[in-house]
Amino acid sequence: MNFPDYAPLVAAQRAFFVDGHTRPIGWRKRQLEAIQAMFTDHHDDLCDALWKDLRRNVIDADLMDVGYCAREAAYALRHIDAWVKPTAEPTPMVFEPGDVRVNRDPLGVSLIIGAWNEPFMLLFGPLVAALAAGNTAVLKPSEVATNCAAAAARLVPKYFDPRAVAVVEGGVPETTALLAQQWDMIFFTGSPRVGKIVHQAAAQNLTPCVLELGGKNPTIVHSSADLEVAARRIAYGRFLNAGQICTAPDHVLVWPDVKDEFVQHLDDAIRAFYGDDPQQSPDYGRVVDRRNFDRLAALIDSGKAVVGGQTDVDERYIAPTVLVDVSEDSLIMKEEIFGPILPVLAIDSVSSVIRWVNSRPSPLSLYVFAEDSQVIDAILSATRSGDVEINDCAIHPLFPELPFGGVGNSGMGKYHGKWGFEAFTNARGVFHHSTRVDPRVRYPPYARHGLERAMLNRLTP
Ligand code: NAD
Repeated sequence: MNFPDYAPLVAAQRAFFVDGHTRPIGWRKRQLEAIQAMFTDHHDDLCDALWKDLRRNVIDADLMDVGYCAREAAYALRHIDAWVKPTAEPTPMVFEPGDVRVNRDPLGVSLIIGAWNEPFMLLFGPLVAALAAGNTAVLKPSEVATNCAAAAARLVPKYFDPRAVAVVEGGVPETTALLAQQWDMIFFTGSPRVGKIVHQAAAQNLTPCVLELGGKNPTIVHSSADLEVAARRIAYGRFLNAGQICTAPDHVLVWPDVKDEFVQHLDDAIRAFYGDDPQQSPDYGRVVDRRNFDRLAALIDSGKAVVGGQTDVDERYIAPTVLVDVSEDSLIMKEEIFGPILPVLAIDSVSSVIRWVNSRPSPLSLYVFAEDSQVIDAILSATRSGDVEINDCAIHPLFPELPFGGVGNSGMGKYHGKWGFEAFTNARGVFHHSTRVDPRVRYPPYARHGLERAMLNRLTP
């Protein structure tokens, strides 16, 4: 295959970085302001692109993508002075007088590869972090959200110098060619399958990576939970963006004595959100493309649909669907659903929940709905997941204070807020030693100063 040559683009960004343009705090702040301006000036255009790709309503478009990017930039602008400040550390006594500190240096030229489900958040959220930390970036939007990718490619050159920020559109061939370049940092959001390809490419140059991947997020509903609130929040998290959210609750494990009541509350919540015919609701989205529609439509047969189950291929519509009588071995329990279908299975003990979570790939998020704090503590202390929510789900990526990211099969590295800044930063230890004092005991021949040398070793950390 004939791959495009991205070497000139990367070389231009590297020269810009090496020449020091990206280091001044003033420059970084102007780039963050440019992100804010782009998402404010073109708010309606960008919401329109999300409508065309995902039939996303304006409130959710703003929450997860358009407003989100402007807010993440504003948060970085408020905190960047504190983030970049070198931190002073104590100097070990035997090396006094001296100055020990940690500088926050940029890594260099970064590649940011996005997924299609939150097309702006997943490119410009990492971009905030890259620019705040003084890096350049090449953005590769997902080719699946075609209108959003085109909008990013059209608008970025209006707000950024291409030596600092550039967009490369394309699919597998273009991404493969980009990955063949030498980067100082690769930030990838997508599936674990492609995450492995990215990680292998990065290894060729020992390039650090953040991998923001997906997986099945187990959602536990204990008998002590407030079932009505739990059902409402789970329905919101599962059916937002027609279920195409990496942090959506993937399946529910509910205690058998409250299962029927919980499912009834789910039904009530879905009706209250989207009406009796969700296809007519202005708030309910669509599946992004035909490939994902076909994949999801086939999963509905994995159980009995007690809510929803209807599909319309012409609109890529799949009704908000709740499945019961789902076998653990069915197709839907083997892969990340990433669509508006929610299997509800019964589970009857904390130890079974722990076994369930620990015997599967580590999830991006784990959700526990319970009022019994012993149940919550027991589950949290014996399981592993990127993040956790208790009595809520799906929304923690909106908090810039929380580190966001997976663990194990759901990814590596964290971002958002200061965590993103650090992901794009080399914490560079600096020791500046005064030359005024230079005790000879440090140097060979060691035999000359036996006792003093032993004391020095004890005083050295
Ligand atoms: P994907 O892995 O198919 O694609 C992601 C990106 O990789 C796209 O830009 C695509 O062009 C590129 N790509 C695809 N195949 C490639 C290949 N062979 N070589 C090189 N590049 C390739 O993922 P997707 O379908 O866009 O997104 C869905 C997945 O992303 C789900 O698993 C979801 O959970 C996950 N996700 C994770 C997060 C998170 O923050 N952890 C957020 C959103 C989505």
